[in-house]
Amino acid sequence: MINTSFFELFKIGPGPSSSHTVGPMRAAFEFRQTITNYLQNCSSDKHISLRIALYGALAATGHGHGTHRALLAGLLGYLPTNVPITALNNFFTATDESYCLLLGEQKITFVESDIYFDYGHNPYRHPNTMKFVLLQDYVPVLEQVFYSVGGGFIETDKHEAATLMITKGTPTYIYSNMADLQQLQQESGVSVDVILLANEMAISLMTEQEVFARIADILEIMEQSVVNGLQKEGILPGGLQVHRRAKSMYEKAQHLTEQGRWGDALFARLNAYALATSEENAAGQMVVTAPTNGAAGVIPATIAYLVNDCHVGRETISRGLLVAAMVGFIIKDNASISGAELGCQAEVGSAAAMAAALFSFCYGEPLDVIASAAEIAMEHHLGMTCDPIKGLVQIPCIERNATGAVKAYNAYLLASGRTTQPLISFDQVVEVMRQTGLDLSAKYKETALGGLATSFGWGNMPGS
Ligand code: SF4
Repeated sequence: MINTSFFELFKIGPGPSSSHTVGPMRAAFEFRQTITNYLQNCSSDKHISLRIALYGALAATGHGHGTHRALLAGLLGYLPTNVPITALNNFFTATDESYCLLLGEQKITFVESDIYFDYGHNPYRHPNTMKFVLLQDYVPVLEQVFYSVGGGFIETDKHEAATLMITKGTPTYIYSNMADLQQLQQESGVSVDVILLANEMAISLMTEQEVFARIADILEIMEQSVVNGLQKEGILPGGLQVHRRAKSMYEKAQHLTEQGRWGDALFARLNAYALATSEENAAGQMVVTAPTNGAAGVIPATIAYLVNDCHVGRETISRGLLVAAMVGFIIKDNASISGAELGCQAEVGSAAAMAAALFSFCYGEPLDVIASAAEIAMEHHLGMTCDPIKGLVQIPCIERNATGAVKAYNAYLLASGRTTQPLISFDQVVEVMRQTGLDLSAKYKETALGGLATSFGWGNMPGS
């Protein structure tokens, strides 16, 4: 049964990675709460220290993604929604910097070398694992293991990190996949956005007004990321010398429009909008997981195109986002939205499927077309690897968001123009994506050990 809230999937936070930045910050915040409670009952004359170990893909590409800075932010008591971006991006700029953590009555000194990147082995069940250890007089007394499972979601072996989740109710309409939802819709005659709104109100225990007010906040950050990205130029941080290209792409789109080359201009605009948000994400600015930070550019590009160029109203967009979220929920529950688990097909592929559903809903298509568009978008991302160079969310990630947005539009066109029933259902393609991801070598799952990451002499280690 799907009981994920819209606001668990779409979360405001800093770039560049939901699994390597947002998830670790939330886990560190959670551990901070745990040890603060623990230390209240301890004698204060003991020496207190912390160690954090990162395993798997978190170790392999953590430096490039700024995981160490995100962990410190969480330990200092920041969450992704309220962390000051400039301070975050300046943490650990000098390797000998030390930070004072105030935990109740206790003060703990924390330095970068308290974080250990275990490149060699991962004894845990998930490729993105963090182990937090509290030591008293250098003896471990408390340990907590978290898994960053994609999209900023974190889990422990016992439960999802409950203190960071909103209080949940039971959904009004029960479904686990697209087939269930299609059947529900046929039997009830209720339109899909109304079904999803009822579920969101039931799960998040909010009124309709509250749900739409919070969706408006999410929309605002997405739209602002496009606006900001379209204005900026220069080189992105990280040392790859990647230039921002959104502004020049947008100027090209305007030029194409003036020339009457409408088709080219459409794609140029979608590309420019997606580049804008993805470049903001790569620069560590505020974006929205959609469903992840790496894939954060596809849905804002879709929204910018629908609002700016097609003049679709904000209420339709908000309801369309509920539909896009439903596609993300089904993928998350039945496969994964994590590049470290199933490759980029699970990140940009999922974002494109969600965006195809958004296009279809906003253009007034029924649920069977929405499902078909999502299926087509995912089908043509199958097998896509996650192999970011130097572990930075730049190459291939930024252009990949642009191609994801264009594919999403084309998937909508293919689905809405079809006159026969599709042979492959959305649920089938999600299962194929899951199996394909399991078959992918670990080299292609956010470890920067293969593909583009090791081409042309690039290595994966920090500073290489
Ligand atoms: S290659 Fe895809 S999955 Fe991997 S970090 Fe980039 S956007 Fe995310």
